[in-house]
Amino acid sequence: ALTAINSELEAFNYSIAHDLRTPLRSMSGFAKALLEDESANLTPLGLEYATRIARSANYMDNLLLDMLAYSRLAGAEMAPETFTLEEPISELLSLVEKEIRDRKVKVEVCSPLGTVFAHLPTFKQILTNLISNGVKFLSPDRPPELKIFTTRLPGFIRLWVQDNGIGIAREHHDKIFGLFQRLHDSQAYPGTGIGLALVRKGAERMGGRVGVESEPGQGSRFWVDLPTGPLSGDGN
Ligand code: ADP
Repeated sequence: ALTAINSELEAFNYSIAHDLRTPLRSMSGFAKALLEDESANLTPLGLEYATRIARSANYMDNLLLDMLAYSRLAGAEMAPETFTLEEPISELLSLVEKEIRDRKVKVEVCSPLGTVFAHLPTFKQILTNLISNGVKFLSPDRPPELKIFTTRLPGFIRLWVQDNGIGIAREHHDKIFGLFQRLHDSQAYPGTGIGLALVRKGAERMGGRVGVESEPGQGSRFWVDLPTGPLSGDGN
């Protein structure tokens, strides 16, 4: 009964997030039209208000897209396949190439990383979030570095994404994997607070686990355990 209620709630969550995007698109479209077509008729204060509406609509759309991604991931069929880690990781790094270049992040990938048996789209989603956090929460005190490497465990490969950024206090290590949990103000570090919840949900659904080692000011190392072969039981 609990499983049925849970999947009903997930479907409900998905359809709300999906349906809210339609009126939001209209609000965002009219705010943009005000800024682009009617700017000559607006006072500076009117322009500022329209800019704020457009910015908030954009933020809300990012939230809804992340919620949709989370719901999809919670309910999706996950057919695992065998793949080596290098290829998807270099693909994902190329997607954030601009951020890496603009923020002058030194990236190191320690090959060979190994081969896993996992759901490739979910793996990519997890890594996208860990990499984008790794190049976002930078420390003002040192040149940013991002290192991706693996260690071995029985039946699993532990994939590490390590940065030398602002770090996270121990008391927050568990909390940050919850939905909408953010430790930093959104002006300095924009985000929705869904990324790490998605990472945890994705890893668990693939039969793996996630965690973090970090101290404030000392950088963070996030890890994900990925199965190297078919799991016995349901993997949880
Ligand atoms: P978002 O990045 O959208 O804020 P996440 O769920 O990805 O949301 O992360 C939750 C919070 O955990 C972040 O707001 C930030 O406070 C903290 N955090 C995540 N990754 C890092 C990191 N690499 N270094 C420091 N803090 C981090």
